[in-house]
Amino acid sequence: MLAVDTARVVVVGAGAAGLSLACRLGEQGTEGVVLVRAPAGEHSAPERTWCSWGSDSYWADAVSARWERVSVQPHGGSARTYALAPLDYTMIRSRDYERVAAERLARTSVRCVEAVVAGVDDGPNEAVVQGAGLRADWVFDTRPAAPARPGRVALLQHFRGWFVRTSEDAFDPSVAGLMDFRPPQPPRGVAFGYVLPTSPREALVEYTEFSRTALTTAQYEKALAGYTALLGLPPYEVVAAEQGAIPMTDARFPRRVGRRVFRLGAAGGATRPSTGYTFSAAQRQAAGVAAALRKGGDPCPPAAYSRRHLWMDALLLRALDDGAIDGADFLAGLFERHPTERVLRFLDGATSPVEDLAVMASAPKTVMMRTMLRR
Ligand SMILES: Cc1cc2nc3c(=O)[nH]c(=O)nc-3n(C[C@H](O)[C@H](O)[C@H](O)COP(=O)(O)OP(=O)(O)OC[C@H]3O[C@@H](n4cnc5c(N)ncnc54)[C@H](O)[C@@H]3O)c2cc1C
Repeated sequence: MLAVDTARVVVVGAGAAGLSLACRLGEQGTEGVVLVRAPAGEHSAPERTWCSWGSDSYWADAVSARWERVSVQPHGGSARTYALAPLDYTMIRSRDYERVAAERLARTSVRCVEAVVAGVDDGPNEAVVQGAGLRADWVFDTRPAAPARPGRVALLQHFRGWFVRTSEDAFDPSVAGLMDFRPPQPPRGVAFGYVLPTSPREALVEYTEFSRTALTTAQYEKALAGYTALLGLPPYEVVAAEQGAIPMTDARFPRRVGRRVFRLGAAGGATRPSTGYTFSAAQRQAAGVAAALRKGGDPCPPAAYSRRHLWMDALLLRALDDGAIDGADFLAGLFERHPTERVLRFLDGATSPVEDLAVMASAPKTVMMRTMLRR
């Protein structure tokens, strides 16, 4: 039988949220922290690329690309480019994040163990991490988790991207192609291309849909071939690929799941329902937990988004799912009608009520009223 070891804090999962929390706790000198990472295999997360609006400098060492301008291409009309200052758009590849995190953790007292966690049992004074032989005062679980109850809307942001290398210069590395709505649109939801150039000859080119069901790899490949043809790329090779599906739902993801057990990151509601952006909110949650543990307070991760933003997201998702709004027009219109900084803060859930009203006014009012009444 496995001996049970005691810790003050156990962080389950070494992805975006888990590594962030472990590093922050280690660097602030919190003692008795154990990070449980899954061994390579079924439970380890595949490599991925995280982009966010770069207001958080904590992971500056892991940033592999940064853009000060983005372009948005409506399905009719021409592309427009928007300056992001004072923000920028940053790309972090998970392998760089893991490397920087490992270097940081090596300088702290955080203990890293490998185990497949089978479950976490709550208790009045401590929680037990099944499969890792650990008990702790506090457990932060970042393993993927289903919501407490299914939502009324369950869309996915699903995508596949190719890291391409072209035979001649084809990209402007100073502009990230955030949304290109020229690909054929699905009957419900929205589809767009996404281009993150890292040099004149290298870019991550993605095909993304917000819709109910993910595609097969063959369907994504066909869509990507169509999109690269639309971009008019010169001959290119695909050097790597990434694929994923992020839930876009009005379901709630509880952060406190016991007296001693919390969920953090995507499992703890860090995914913005209307956009799929998660990375920044997971960082805010990790920073919040570290600060609470430093002060000796209740370490429940802070809510990633306000109730108001979640309510607005639920309306938007419903309208998108019903086909009541044209997602491509709405999203392209956001950038056309509002200051870029406001749109970026809206995408990140950081806008004020007045700004939110202005954003909501971008959607056809009768449609949003109808959607609101139906909810
Ligand atoms: C391909 C892809 C690209 C994305 N791009 C962006 C982006 O550009 N911007 C953005 O904001 N969001 C993005 N997201 C969404 C989100 O940021 C990521 O999913 C992010 O990784 C979530 O962080 P997390 O720590 O909550 O979960 P994860 O990073 O998935 O970490 C969960 C951890 O739990 C571990 N684990 C699972 N089961 C067990 C077990 N039984 N025992 C022990 N450990 C276990 C896994 O190994 C993993 O390390 C993307 C998602 C995907 C899939």
